[in-house]
Amino acid sequence: MTAMDCIIQAFTGVYRAKSAYTPSEVLTGIHTVLGTLPARAVIVGWHTDAALYRELIKEVHDRGKEIYIWLPVFSETSAIPGAIPAMDFLGEPHAGTGSGEEDFSFLCPSHRQNLDAVKRIYDEHFGTLGFDGVFLDKIRYSSFGNGFAPAMGCFCDACKRVYAENGVDTETLMLLLKQKDKPFFAPTALDRMRYVFDNPLVDRFFRVRAKIITDAVSELADWFHAEGLKVGLDVFAPVFAYLVGQDIGALARGADFIKPMIYRVTDAPAGLPYECRRMRDELRAHGCEIGHRIEDLWGVKDFCGEASLRAQLGRLKRTPCPVYVGLEVNYKPGVCETDEAYVTGSARLIADSGLGCVLSWDVLSDTKDHKRLSIEGEKRSQNYFGPRHSQQRKRRRCSRFHTWEKHLRLWFFV
Ligand SMILES: [Zn+2]
Repeated sequence: MTAMDCIIQAFTGVYRAKSAYTPSEVLTGIHTVLGTLPARAVIVGWHTDAALYRELIKEVHDRGKEIYIWLPVFSETSAIPGAIPAMDFLGEPHAGTGSGEEDFSFLCPSHRQNLDAVKRIYDEHFGTLGFDGVFLDKIRYSSFGNGFAPAMGCFCDACKRVYAENGVDTETLMLLLKQKDKPFFAPTALDRMRYVFDNPLVDRFFRVRAKIITDAVSELADWFHAEGLKVGLDVFAPVFAYLVGQDIGALARGADFIKPMIYRVTDAPAGLPYECRRMRDELRAHGCEIGHRIEDLWGVKDFCGEASLRAQLGRLKRTPCPVYVGLEVNYKPGVCETDEAYVTGSARLIADSGLGCVLSWDVLSDTKDHKRLSIEGEKRSQNYFGPRHSQQRKRRRCSRFHTWEKHLRLWFFV
């Protein structure tokens, strides 16, 4: 395999907390990865401390590469004065999952104030630093992770107006949503990366809510483009994107690249194991037994298997902008338990597809858990290989596994 076209992603912390890193740690961490992989760009964010980025931007530019600031749009911004939350069909503001330090409550995509807040955050904190682009994240509605009602999207007056203008009879729709049995929420066909629903009202509703997200994102993208910036977009894996309001093909038309998060081992929001379980559970609890309907539409047995990655890569090839597939490379106990076989196997499939890759979601996280994992793997293999052989392998592998540089050389064949 030749070295793949890749971008690296580094998480410096959320808006309102203290960053876990010093500027020199951020610089050293990214310097190490850039010195190992021929990455074309860096995505970093979204902590607002400018000191974390000044030297880094210079270093990235000296290497002739691009750097994007990572900006969440409809989530993470709920504490900003004037932010308007999304309202579910029962009239309640969307609540978050409370997962980790991130804030997964969601804002309404139809209110201009929420878009203006993102522009303001950029202007106030990042506008003069010299970033080449922005990377817009959380450009969606809640997923089923937040529950059935939030996953249905926003029903504030502004959104209801847009539904009505686009032919969605909201009164009848609300009656459907409140009905005990809702078999009509199981899609019956796959149209590129959008689902089709047999019930025409449900089908139109899903199209219009995706249009609301597309229109909001394209307005933001136009604004950032006018500022001379490139725009990358973080989107869900194609199997779930349309269910959170993302029409990948339409979004891609206004973007310089997209990063579909095909996270097959992340058991947290945006991760396929988590989203799959929550979708099935929430739909079942609300009168829709979805069974394996979606897997069948994609022709796969398991959302999280390699066949699922292959099927999604196939559909992504026709996207009207460059695609860099998000692949988890960090290890977080209980949340994202990657290993060498997973990263290498996924990287190989992505490279074979001709698409690029974003090393997600955080190359700043330390590598001690990967090191621990390889030691545990050796312990498990002792019975098979016998103690002496295994001891030799253990020494060899531990010495290879103690920095990102060594992991990446091994995983990405550089
Ligand atoms: Zn709304």
